[in-house]
Amino acid sequence: MAERYYNYINGEWIDSVTGRTFENRNPANWDEVIGVFPKSSKEDVEKAVEAAKKAQREWAKMPVPKRGEILGRAGDLLVQRKEELARLMTREMGKILKETRGDVQEGIDTAYYAFGEGRRLFGITTPSELPNMMAFTVMRPVGVAGIITPWNFPMAIPCWKIFPALLTGNAVVFKPASDTPATATKLVEILTEAGVPPGVVNLVHGTGREVGEAILSHPDIGVISFTGSSEVGSRIAEVAGKHLKRVSLELGGKNPQIVMEDADLELALEGVLWGAFGTTGQRCTATSRLILHEPIHDKFIEMLVERVKKLKIGNGLDETIEMGPVINESQLNKILEYVEIGKKEGAKLIYGGERLTDGDYAKGWFMQPTIFVDVKPEMRIAQEEIFGPVLSVIKVKDFDEAIEVANNTTYGLSSSIYTTDIRLAMRAVELLEAGITYINAPTIGAECHLPFGGVKRTGNGHREGGKWAYEIFTEIKTVYVDFSGKLQKAQIDTAVTK
Ligand code: NAD
Repeated sequence: MAERYYNYINGEWIDSVTGRTFENRNPANWDEVIGVFPKSSKEDVEKAVEAAKKAQREWAKMPVPKRGEILGRAGDLLVQRKEELARLMTREMGKILKETRGDVQEGIDTAYYAFGEGRRLFGITTPSELPNMMAFTVMRPVGVAGIITPWNFPMAIPCWKIFPALLTGNAVVFKPASDTPATATKLVEILTEAGVPPGVVNLVHGTGREVGEAILSHPDIGVISFTGSSEVGSRIAEVAGKHLKRVSLELGGKNPQIVMEDADLELALEGVLWGAFGTTGQRCTATSRLILHEPIHDKFIEMLVERVKKLKIGNGLDETIEMGPVINESQLNKILEYVEIGKKEGAKLIYGGERLTDGDYAKGWFMQPTIFVDVKPEMRIAQEEIFGPVLSVIKVKDFDEAIEVANNTTYGLSSSIYTTDIRLAMRAVELLEAGITYINAPTIGAECHLPFGGVKRTGNGHREGGKWAYEIFTEIKTVYVDFSGKLQKAQIDTAVTK
């Protein structure tokens, strides 16, 4: 019997008021049901927000270092349960164990960062223009935070958002992707065990259309932190804008890896294999465009195809597997559609492009790693996020053209250049329109203490990670303390007279 999971509202594990449920299945073997989850409604969200609003007042009174200690304990529990969580995550969304262990590790790192931040959360002090006056700032919580997350990093992304939200004294209403509700549930269990009081974290399972939309328009939610597609992101900005909510959006990407003729080609090859086919290409930072300098184009393609042929595809629980399945049927169909679009546009399919259905693959959403060459920068497969193991290769004649092609999309998340020429590397740092640039490293691999986010249609200017994540969830209060014992008037008493 499949395990039954629940919403978590006001410190209780409860069903949706609707009584409806949905199933979550293993994308590597759809006979395996991971669990049955409540398919919640607006009413469930309302209950969760009410609980959050009430609990937040007390939570905000707890000294910040104490809240930090609770998050530190959550980090310890994540360490203890790392292997169990990684295995569940692989079964739930398919990526290989090495990567799901990394996903939990990112949560651990983020928890320990939050623990440390509990003894910082710095404001500023500054001289006042008036005598006997002190001026400083303090960071105050926004109130209730709505957290809406995708399925590709089921632990890391919720931790990136929830830990800073909690440390800064907010309460949370969390709606995870319906493809990864079990990992999300484990995270909430851990936070509860670590000592987060009832009502401070609330979990509501369900669809974006029902639960997500109810979060967007709820008047008592002051800030929304969202990671997902640019389409949904722009919908969120529209609704939240109407309600004057603060919104942080981390959206899609079409990330380029440039390889110049002077590059270490073996290193660049390792980079593109990991960047394009790691997580089955389902990372916002996945390498989806390979921009090759003409003199090494043919040789590099030969090296690449030789290696891609050997990639071991299968169930991520097997430690020898290098690429797992795609998340679900509709995503697989979308990827296959893009393969057809690429062919019709005149790109040359030189490897893959098909679904795998033989033997053990028959019960999963498996896809061949896919490579297109002769791709033109304006083609849809070079412009749109496919979110699968599909690499579009574009040939360029020199560095300037490489940069122009790299920048020629509406996205701007990650970017990478392989070159041994320091001048080209530093010019690329200046010229690439992206939130992240890697030199001689693939487009993927964020660390929790560095800012993470992108430019253009990848987001709305916020950054997750490090201290930047804390800005999203705080209001700055400016404090003036007048100890002169008389009325002092800024600008008037201090006016300079000539
Ligand atoms: P998605 O946009 O379909 O869904 C993301 C979340 O939003 C889910 O929880 C979903 O249920 C919810 N949602 C859907 N419609 C909604 C609505 N109308 N109102 C409120 N919530 C709604 O994305 P996905 O398929 O889960 O994830 C893949 C996408 O996420 C890709 O575009 C990828 O690039 C992006 N992503 C971005 C980052 C980043 O940090 N920039 C990281 C990971 C993934």
